[in-house]
Amino acid sequence: MSQAKAYAVMSPTSAFQPWTFERREPGDRDVVIEIAFCGICHSDLHQVRDEWGGSKFPMVPGHEIAGRVRAVGKKVRKFKAGDDAGVGCLVNSCGKCANCRKGLEQHCAGPVAFTYNGFELDGKTPTYGGYSSHVVVDERFVLKIKSGLPLERVAPLLCAGITTYSPLKRFGAGKGKRVGVLGLGGLGHMGVKLAAAMGAEVVVLSGTAAKKADGKRLGAHDFILTSDAAAMTKNTGRLDLIVDTVSAPHDIGAALGLLNTGGTLALVGASPKPLELPAFPLILARRQVAGSLIGGIAETQEMLDFCAKKKVFADVEVIEPRALDSAYERLTKGDVRYRFSIDLSKL
Ligand code: NAP
Ligand code: ZN
Ligand code: ZN
Repeated sequence: MSQAKAYAVMSPTSAFQPWTFERREPGDRDVVIEIAFCGICHSDLHQVRDEWGGSKFPMVPGHEIAGRVRAVGKKVRKFKAGDDAGVGCLVNSCGKCANCRKGLEQHCAGPVAFTYNGFELDGKTPTYGGYSSHVVVDERFVLKIKSGLPLERVAPLLCAGITTYSPLKRFGAGKGKRVGVLGLGGLGHMGVKLAAAMGAEVVVLSGTAAKKADGKRLGAHDFILTSDAAAMTKNTGRLDLIVDTVSAPHDIGAALGLLNTGGTLALVGASPKPLELPAFPLILARRQVAGSLIGGIAETQEMLDFCAKKKVFADVEVIEPRALDSAYERLTKGDVRYRFSIDLSKL
């Protein structure tokens, strides 16, 4: 066992506080990672505030982990001490079910271990995330990060990156495709960068007029203010695919109208309250709504390699752990351009 330093919350209404806990003794196939940076995902905020239900406390959030390998078990082949490495939303899965065998570990039939607010495969040992000094993870769930990359900007790829990369790939974003990204936050800004890097024509769909210039800078070709009814009508049928990253209830029917015949809205935003789905924008142009959950481990590695090659990294504001409460307040208000990245060397 090793003592980990962390920041935790004790209830949905309490502030973050310094906390220590025991990480398990690394086994033969485990990798011990000294965490350098961890991104703050809106899913952390949903779970800290128990907006989805079922949150467990104390909670150490964090599933956008980038750091350096401190030690490896004797059967570990992929990593050695000193390597850069990452961990995303999953730290283990059954490895045997149909989804695991297809590389869709995020849809494992169970047991599956999410990085925090879950349990190890034994079903009883709580998992604690990346707002901490180090983590012990089976090498199958540790991602390779090319050495020399800016880890504070790589960390958010482990969730925001893969969550947008996966539906972009699955629905064919690339040259000749018109892709809308709805909601320009942590996920959205990665969606714009990734879709542009894949060669698609990218349109930002945002409720915040002040983000227009950022959209262009991030690689988008156009910007539509979703509250501008005339602009929405003018752009009816323009897009092949929309990646919807909005974190709260919103007008999904209006977004559907922007899709061409047979176009797809891939929903990744995880609104705690149900969305209203009007029939007509869907049936009149046989459009479809799909869901998407992060990505499997092999696909996450593919995404990291793609980002390293294309030099696609998150735009971050680095914070110290003691600033977590104010960062959460700002994230609630949408006041971050575009991801907070916690410097864990300052624990
Ligand atoms: P974020 O940084 O807070 O960005 C969300 C964006 O949505 C905001 O920047 C804003 O964009 C827009 N928005 C927020 N509230 C809105 C409202 N009431 N109406 C309309 N637009 C609103 O959050 P994030 O970290 O990108 O996460 C986004 C969502 O994805 C969260 O629900 C998160 O839990 C979920 N998520 C899902 C997965 C998955 O696997 N499916 C993975 C990670 C995260 P504009 O200012 O441009 O309008
Ligand atoms: Zn996340
Ligand atoms: Zn499985």
